[in-house]
Amino acid sequence: MAVWNTLIELYLSLSADYAKDKQDLAKSMQSKALYVLKSPFEFDSTHALLVCSTKQFTEGLVLLWEKLGMYEDILRFFMDKENELTASNSQTPTGEVRPSAEVSRYLQRYGESDPNLYPLVLRFLTSTPELLQRHTSDLTGILEHIEEGKIMPPLAVVQVLSRNKVASVGLVKPWLLRRISESKNEIDSDRRLIDSYRSETAAKLKDIAELSDPDAPKMFHTSQCSAGDGPLELPVVHFMCKHSYHQRCLGEHETECPICARQHSVIRQLRRDNERLAQQHDVFLAEVEENGFSAIATAFSQGILNVPRDEGVAL
Ligand SMILES: [Zn+2]
Ligand SMILES: [Zn+2]
Repeated sequence: MAVWNTLIELYLSLSADYAKDKQDLAKSMQSKALYVLKSPFEFDSTHALLVCSTKQFTEGLVLLWEKLGMYEDILRFFMDKENELTASNSQTPTGEVRPSAEVSRYLQRYGESDPNLYPLVLRFLTSTPELLQRHTSDLTGILEHIEEGKIMPPLAVVQVLSRNKVASVGLVKPWLLRRISESKNEIDSDRRLIDSYRSETAAKLKDIAELSDPDAPKMFHTSQCSAGDGPLELPVVHFMCKHSYHQRCLGEHETECPICARQHSVIRQLRRDNERLAQQHDVFLAEVEENGFSAIATAFSQGILNVPRDEGVAL
């Protein structure tokens, strides 16, 4: 409704008129405008933003941006203010909070709902030595937050910090050390996993070699039925996977070991799924776009990249 917009404009114009000699009245006009802005009345937000901006009514601006979820605009507003202040080499007016402190304050308030604000503020606080000096402890907090929430990869953080000579190595040393030792732990555990997979594969290959050698004798030394109902007694069925059963424990036409058949069917299903995935190029591309190299590595591990080539293509 246009009437609310007119009212906001009126309050703010009056406030500007009173600003010189009647401070109290000016303040009360501003709080009236704020009351309308906070209310559920239907006014045009774009117009209200414009009015607050031309009348330099910061409180109103922040309130509107907050209502609209435009948190980045709030931070950028105070960053610009801080930069203007630095450029003109002037002091913060008494009674007002330094804009850079507002940036930190609002980051704490909105960072949770918009994690993209962290990289923005990281860049801002490390743009000049003065800013960094005033906000060293804020920066440490931001780095911790980025690390906890995995908001930026460590390399990206290092790139931001090393783009100028503002941040020193000493400042981020504890953070860097922690990241490096974490990565090292990850690499170590991956290595252990690779080793265990390798030995598992070797054992399987050995089994296969034994099974496919017609001359090698097979030994069956299980004394308990694999179905779990006690000691084996004749007649007994032995499978090559070294599971043995009472004949009565198997179905009449059972030609597969029931225990292994269940595991094999899971593996077969996985393979079928992976083969189907290999045909869905758009899914793969979307995943690569989102997760980059790790998506390719996963696809590789699932054999998705080993699909047989089209016939007729020379290898
Ligand atoms: Zn049995
Ligand atoms: Zn078996």
